[in-house]
Amino acid sequence: MGYMIEGETGPWEVVIGLEVHAQVISKAKLFSGAAAHFGSEPNTQVSFVDAAFPGMLPVINRECVAQALRTGLGLNAHINLVSRFDRKNYFYPDLPAGYQISQYQHPIVGHGSIEIELADGTTKTIGITRLHLEQDAGKSLHDQHPTKSYIDLNRAGVALMEIVSEPDMRSPEEAGAYLRKLRSIMRYLGTCDGNMEEGSLRADINVSVRKPGEPFRTRCEVKNVNSIRFVMQAIEAEARRQVEVWESGGVVEQETRLFDPQRGVTRAMRSKEEAHDYRYFPDPDLLPLVIDEAWLEELRANLPELPDAKKRRFMQHYGLSAYDATLLVSEKATADYFEEVAKGRDAKLTANWVMGELFAVLNRTGRSIEQSPVSAQALGELLDLLADGTISGRIAKDVFEIMVETGEAPAVIVERKGLRQVTDTGAIEQAVTAVLAAHPKEVAAYKAGKERLFGFFVGQVMKAMAGKANPALVNEILKHKLG
Ligand code: ADP
Ligand code: MG
Repeated sequence: MGYMIEGETGPWEVVIGLEVHAQVISKAKLFSGAAAHFGSEPNTQVSFVDAAFPGMLPVINRECVAQALRTGLGLNAHINLVSRFDRKNYFYPDLPAGYQISQYQHPIVGHGSIEIELADGTTKTIGITRLHLEQDAGKSLHDQHPTKSYIDLNRAGVALMEIVSEPDMRSPEEAGAYLRKLRSIMRYLGTCDGNMEEGSLRADINVSVRKPGEPFRTRCEVKNVNSIRFVMQAIEAEARRQVEVWESGGVVEQETRLFDPQRGVTRAMRSKEEAHDYRYFPDPDLLPLVIDEAWLEELRANLPELPDAKKRRFMQHYGLSAYDATLLVSEKATADYFEEVAKGRDAKLTANWVMGELFAVLNRTGRSIEQSPVSAQALGELLDLLADGTISGRIAKDVFEIMVETGEAPAVIVERKGLRQVTDTGAIEQAVTAVLAAHPKEVAAYKAGKERLFGFFVGQVMKAMAGKANPALVNEILKHKLG
């Protein structure tokens, strides 16, 4: 059985569906020409439409529609050639119009799916219910004044894609994998930068629990969780809470909750609103959105290679394992880096260096691959020195560390530090003789049958030659002298 929560009455299954708000990458907002740039001075990117001045009319931004279509295509989803914008009415200080323009009954994108990869090597398909376009709200600033709240409308009217999943996930791990995969697909497509700290990607989590085999029970929604780690923690915390409620004879009420990452618990925010509370009706300022089929086909033809296709190609063309290929394609920049190094070189060796030494340095220094201190070109040169026997594997690691620190080319470092591999049998023989002479006890033990000591001798010879001896020759000469 998969992930279960152990209660007093036995195991409980967790059911999860996610509603993700993804900010569309575009210069301007969904219905106005104001800039959609993040991090500008408050209220410097607000048109009369965004501020909801009376009589202003929204005009749809074609690029935002294209981005939604690209995303739909990337999610293998059905595209609705006719969709419609509705007004979702509610009061909020950061919503000057008193309604959000959204899509309710007729979204631009219908059913689709995403394939996720799990730690045990299995894959699972998660259904996408829909994707619709809607406006973002502004932002209340509560920390600028002791008694007043300020409003920043820069974000008001920015285009969002709300992507709703089917309740197909059964563990925090699956929800994390789903979000990572969705983010990866949108980054490949260039439709959302996926930056959760800046709020470009926000997740509302729907969680319920049930006994295995039962129909679904009531769900709660945990709003606006802004990191994948918190999403996973919030699911676990909320599921445990619900198990306790059911097991103590209570009833889980459908409601909206918030996750407190510091305390690791969710708390009630408000009882769940129903669709009819919003008094949805078609926005009379906007015509139905009709997609030209030729345009859709043009967008489809220009889609980039997406992570799943790239993964298959990496496995077939480079002979990589599913695990390695998954890791390398998760970020497009990483995949590009790998391919640049692997061109004309041993792909498996390249993959090991990228995922081993390079990832270690990036993790250690908190950098992304775009900011890598070692370029793909430079790593390629290093692997060439390794492949043609100029340096040994051990020395290559040292050279790599120096490349990270100084940015020098590997060949320059090898010459400057005299790191060329020694293949002169005379020099290696000399070192072997000296090592054996210095360790008579170990030699006797080895000859008496303690064969594990062979590694010790190799280590000593390597040490004596500062790691530069050709390991195959060291082995060969040692074997000869010892036996
Ligand atoms: P609403 O728009 O009111 O939030 P939806 O029907 O759009 O409701 O569903 C929202 C999300 O809740 C979807 O992601 C769906 O997969 C998920 N969901 C629906 N039922 C359950 C359930 N019983 N347990 C967990 N998630 C659920
Ligand atoms: Mg919803």
